[in-house]
Amino acid sequence: MSESSIREITLAKTRAERHQQVRDLFPTLDGTDCGFEGGRAAALRALARVDPAAYNRTRNHLNGKVSRLSPYFRHGVLTLAEAAHAAIKRSGSGAYKFVFELAWRDFWRRVWARDGDAIEADMERAKVRIGDAPLPKDVANAQTELACMDSFVRDLRETGYVHNHARMWFASYVVHHRKVSWKAAADWYYGELLDGDRASNHLSWQWVASTFSSKPYFFNRENLERYTDGALCAQCTKRNACPFDASYPALEKKLFGAEASLR
Ligand SMILES: Cc1cc2nc3c(=O)[nH]c(=O)nc-3n(C[C@H](O)[C@H](O)[C@H](O)COP(=O)(O)OP(=O)(O)OC[C@H]3O[C@@H](n4cnc5c(N)ncnc54)[C@H](O)[C@@H]3O)c2cc1C
Repeated sequence: MSESSIREITLAKTRAERHQQVRDLFPTLDGTDCGFEGGRAAALRALARVDPAAYNRTRNHLNGKVSRLSPYFRHGVLTLAEAAHAAIKRSGSGAYKFVFELAWRDFWRRVWARDGDAIEADMERAKVRIGDAPLPKDVANAQTELACMDSFVRDLRETGYVHNHARMWFASYVVHHRKVSWKAAADWYYGELLDGDRASNHLSWQWVASTFSSKPYFFNRENLERYTDGALCAQCTKRNACPFDASYPALEKKLFGAEASLR
């Protein structure tokens, strides 16, 4: 984009004017609504909607009452401190879980501030054997035929937002089932996210991979079905050949092999 185009957008007086200018500059973009409204006023409205008690009960469910505040934090529209204070004022100690999750973001950022670009490589030795394959096309294009994983990728590509539990399941599938390099996957994921943040993203991928945690993160079908109310499995063409349909010990053996464990 030319410097004068950037100046024009910057000089636009109203949001509507800015929207029109962006549309004029990028006529081929389809303008899909990502579901997030930008700006401080919208961020404060989203913060006012946070219900810490409901968050406690439902945050692990895909349709649970999560805050969707991450793009506002990522782009500096809202601070973690004001979100924590607002939640505590509303619910006192009932805000514990919500504040605890904010602390994860703070922790990742502090590690990044301390270690800089080192977070782009293994922070620790992996506790199990991990792979270094590039990201496969069927994963990036939502064509794995696993209804869950394909729907998580469509969320990512269409809206730039994915629920935390879905991010965990997806990263685990990519790193441990498909043996993809966590770094290759994290770089791609970061570029698609509206809240893409080097610290939260890359360190979370490392947490799943076990290069920044004491063990790898993996899940089974029962866990995924519980927190998706079975909706994704019901429509999955591979439901009778589901790679997640096993007990945890069986999955651990399948993914890492008894002798392959480096723990
Ligand atoms: C593989 C992977 C990649 C991720 N990449 C990013 C990223 O690029 N940017 C990003 O902001 N978050 C990332 N996260 C963390 C988390 O998934 C998102 O912050 C959260 O899903 C955002 O949705 P929300 O605002 O509705 O979260 P809520 O559940 O409503 O949580 C409230 C806030 O707490 C913080 N938070 C919640 N869970 C986590 C977590 N596990 N780690 C760090 N902070 C958390 C976020 O700031 C979030 O906005 C990643 C997690 C995983 C597993």
